[in-house]
Amino acid sequence: MRAGLLSLLFPPRCAACGDLLRFEGFGGGEIPALCPGCAKQWASEKLQSCGRCGRPVCECRCLTEELSGAGCAGLCKLVYYINGRQPPVQNRMLYHMKNTADRRLAGFLAAELEAPVRALLREAGAAPEQTVLTFVPRSRQAVLRTGTDQALQLARALSARLGLPLQTAVRRRRNARRSQKTMRKQERRQNARRAYRLCRKTDLHGKTVLLVDDIATTGASMAAVARLLRRAGASSICCAAVASDDRNQSLGLRPPGVVQ
Ligand SMILES: [Zn+2]
Ligand SMILES: [Zn+2]
Repeated sequence: MRAGLLSLLFPPRCAACGDLLRFEGFGGGEIPALCPGCAKQWASEKLQSCGRCGRPVCECRCLTEELSGAGCAGLCKLVYYINGRQPPVQNRMLYHMKNTADRRLAGFLAAELEAPVRALLREAGAAPEQTVLTFVPRSRQAVLRTGTDQALQLARALSARLGLPLQTAVRRRRNARRSQKTMRKQERRQNARRAYRLCRKTDLHGKTVLLVDDIATTGASMAAVARLLRRAGASSICCAAVASDDRNQSLGLRPPGVVQ
């Protein structure tokens, strides 16, 4: 009833194209994150195949070189972020997620990630009672500017779905860095390593940690955080992101378990 009233006051829009979602289709259930056209594109983007393992990207666990170097057990992702002029549906969703605290979208993406993440944790031999979930935190300035931390939103939604505790293990240092988007690989790595610190009294001895972020481009940020988690005692680190960069589709990806 309340949800119905809210949707009348703030008609729900597609998280990718922004079109109004039509009421008739809802059938009293949950309001979808995407319009039918974007949902169809999203479904086909998830089936893009990984150039390394040959699986559909949504089932691939290949690590980026950075994540492999940090000793992570595998990286779940749903789609590739596409570099190019015509932004496909997933780029618009990621942009929306970075700029709007949209729980519906975070909930949708967590639901999509649930099965692959469960599979990865199973493969990594993670015992549920010894597994915690954490995220790559966004800078305070970005949170103030946009009103959201997209990785935290996603981690919260995933934590609820998986029934795993969410722990803030790492913080961003103040004034740590400019955006990584324009940096070269080496620069990204150094910058990422300086950007995070462990929260005081973080003890992860014997734990498997599921590390969540929205996008893994080179994986430098996730790898920097993963190293800190290891320092806090984590025995195994599994990674999950909505997207990996399309340059990772064939280049620089290693099957999980192959540590440099
Ligand atoms: Zn749409
Ligand atoms: Zn793969």
